[in-house]
Amino acid sequence: MPDRSLVLFDIDGTLLRTEGVGIAAMLRAFNSLYGDRGFSFDGIEIAGALDGLLFRRLMDTHGLPHHDEAHGKFREAYRSELNSTLTPAKVRRMPGAIELAHALRTQGAAVGLLTGNYEETAHIKIRAAGYASEFFPFGAFGADGPSRRHLTPVALERARAHHGRNFDPARVTIIGDTPLDIDCAKAHGCRAIGVATGPYSTQQLRDAGADLAVANLEATTELLCWILGSEILSQDLASRLPSPVSDGTMR
Ligand SMILES: [Mg+2]
Repeated sequence: MPDRSLVLFDIDGTLLRTEGVGIAAMLRAFNSLYGDRGFSFDGIEIAGALDGLLFRRLMDTHGLPHHDEAHGKFREAYRSELNSTLTPAKVRRMPGAIELAHALRTQGAAVGLLTGNYEETAHIKIRAAGYASEFFPFGAFGADGPSRRHLTPVALERARAHHGRNFDPARVTIIGDTPLDIDCAKAHGCRAIGVATGPYSTQQLRDAGADLAVANLEATTELLCWILGSEILSQDLASRLPSPVSDGTMR
């Protein structure tokens, strides 16, 4: 049997958008613990950032210590704020994402998360968007390392623990909406798909090194073919697939 593929999805801008509700919940959590100090995330690059780093940024800005106890309290306050404010009506699912994740699982690929979100708030967002948490049974999250690059080996290790086998990085595809998603894939020999449903265009994602850049994830069949190649299980499906293209664009 050929090596199975592993596909790791980013959350914000890739699977869904919370349209500012997530960041607002984070600020309210901070204010509830330390009082309103007039902090805003204006001018701070949030897309692709790790929640643990955003916390440090908040604390550093106000000269507050960011030790483990403070971090734990902040995580709990943020979880509570997000849980009470992120209703399904406030979440927008990105086109094609759930269909692609479902199709990948149907074809036997391992599917997980690689996200800057804390694990608990990642699942609040996922559920609010209508994805079953079992869809993404493992992942690497925003407190698992000091930068996004550090999350990739964590995700590979959790995939190994969950599935009981190693995954060859060459058979691992990371899908995300920022250059940081591309970077964390390429730094570890994985493939990267950039999707322009976040703040970056397909051209910017291609310039950042994406092996494939797409406007959205709606072209399920073509994306399956690109990701799985000869692993496609259904001969019927395989016979209808176009051949993969090599110039980084989809037909
Ligand atoms: Mg993102």
